[in-house]
Amino acid sequence: MAEPALLNVTDLRVHFPSAGGGLRRRPGAAVRAVDGVSFGVATGETLGLVGESGCGKSTTGLALLRLIEPTAGQVTLDGIDLTTLSRRRMRAMRRRVTMIFQDPYASLDPRMTIGSIIAEPLAVHGLHRGSRARRHRIGELLELVGLDPGHAHRHPHEFSGGQRQRVGIARALACEPELIVADEPIAALDVSIQAQIINLLEDLRDELGLAYLFIAHDLAAVGHLSDRIAVMYLGRIVEVADRATLFDRPAHPYSQALLSAVPLPDPVAERARERIILRGTVPSPADPPSGCNFRTRCPAAFDRCAVEDPVLTVRGDGHQAACHLPGGRPG
Ligand code: SF4
Repeated sequence: MAEPALLNVTDLRVHFPSAGGGLRRRPGAAVRAVDGVSFGVATGETLGLVGESGCGKSTTGLALLRLIEPTAGQVTLDGIDLTTLSRRRMRAMRRRVTMIFQDPYASLDPRMTIGSIIAEPLAVHGLHRGSRARRHRIGELLELVGLDPGHAHRHPHEFSGGQRQRVGIARALACEPELIVADEPIAALDVSIQAQIINLLEDLRDELGLAYLFIAHDLAAVGHLSDRIAVMYLGRIVEVADRATLFDRPAHPYSQALLSAVPLPDPVAERARERIILRGTVPSPADPPSGCNFRTRCPAAFDRCAVEDPVLTVRGDGHQAACHLPGGRPG
């Protein structure tokens, strides 16, 4: 695969000082929330980033925009190194890469009208100056996300969860970004609304040529929208593949377990579906296991896994996995 042109993330790390405590926690050990993550997103591409809650995927998204400062690593957008920019220049870059947040209830200020919420980034970046031009742009954005432009004077509480998420999307689109980091954008919504928001994101991508980093814990949601999928476990990417390869031939036992939880549309196949139930819970990122950090829950773990950390290696065209076993299963 050619080098992605838009976003390149190299060996990104976000370590937090440990709060101490816990029986097994080493004194002074850092919490390795993100621990050496590398990936790229091409122009117009959607990369899904999937993993259980607490695996570091949201922290990765926040670190890209430096809403959390990375501990180490490099993030470039169109060749510009975001990690070394001054705060002022980084603020300006947030016009080109924006974020949609998980909770449309918490992420919109209840005291503001939705018009002023959407206008905020326009004011910050000095776009569509003048009240008439700004009103026009707000109307345009509301229409783009399927809301009535005549409702710009209303407050968030007058809208449903799905409509509020549409407002969040309009705000993210305001400055015509090239890349949107969508952090669990459907997780807080009713199941009946989730598909509408996914479809809206898909339509906007096709219409505006957007790239997404689509973060979710649910492989089914990620699968619908993503061109490629990166699977994260305990602060690391353990597998990357295009959507079809990941769904047909997942190479890492963790990806196989996540995939086994995805319901199948065919009722016969769905009845025959075997779920892989992982034992135990995700270990603390302040005290990860030796060797492979998935070994305490891996159904295929063997002796080597306790002593040797598997690196992400190429399995085929653009397919990479971090596991000592060729197909994630004992031979
Ligand atoms: Fe499982 Fe070992 Fe592969 Fe890790 S390296 S995923 S423990 S088989």
